[in-house]
Amino acid sequence: MTTKKMQKIISLLEKEYGIPRFDGYHNPLDELILTILSQNTSWQNCSRAFDSLKRSFKDWKQVASADTGKIAQAIKTGGLSRIKAERIKNILKVIYEERGSYCLEFLKKDKLKEAHKFLISLKGVGPKTAACVLLFSCRKPILPVDTHILRISKRLELIPKDTDLAKAHELLGRLVPDDKENILTFHVDMIEHGRMICKSRKTRCRNCIFKLLCPYGHSQKLSK
Ligand code: SF4
Repeated sequence: MTTKKMQKIISLLEKEYGIPRFDGYHNPLDELILTILSQNTSWQNCSRAFDSLKRSFKDWKQVASADTGKIAQAIKTGGLSRIKAERIKNILKVIYEERGSYCLEFLKKDKLKEAHKFLISLKGVGPKTAACVLLFSCRKPILPVDTHILRISKRLELIPKDTDLAKAHELLGRLVPDDKENILTFHVDMIEHGRMICKSRKTRCRNCIFKLLCPYGHSQKLSK
């Protein structure tokens, strides 16, 4: 039943926001660092911080051996720069110790489960970051769940109200059809829907494509 609801949701999202395409490409390590930089900031700030980091250092080896302060300076536009700099340095160190190089291309060949296990074993890499690397760079069928997706999925009762982010990855991952195009549509279009219509504080239920199937919207009498 909920799978049917999920199919309906994806179809409505496609009609409203279109079918997104995989465009641009980062290798898995660049994607990982980019996703870490995106934590708690806008995409624009994160993008600027990533470009500045790439300009400031010759390669990841040089980043790994640099002072944390120098890395933090390079990524300051992304916010939380000291914490992110330490996180990046530590991740690079562990990757080199375990793999003997600064390269994560092996993740593309690994089975999804193994690749995911490796990524979340790195300190500071949670299920959303791991799923972003695996979906966007390795093109594997796995759903990253952000706060917009979590909030809307609860309102739509796709998942229970008390579900945390880690559990939401598991539950929604089972509901979304198992192909990367549908997963990409659900991920990208739900985030757009969260920004435009189903906002955290102010919902625009009357203008919402889900108004006929959303229990939360009905409980609000679609009055907002
Ligand atoms: S009907 Fe309202 S609460 Fe439900 S998804 Fe739409 S905007 Fe969000």
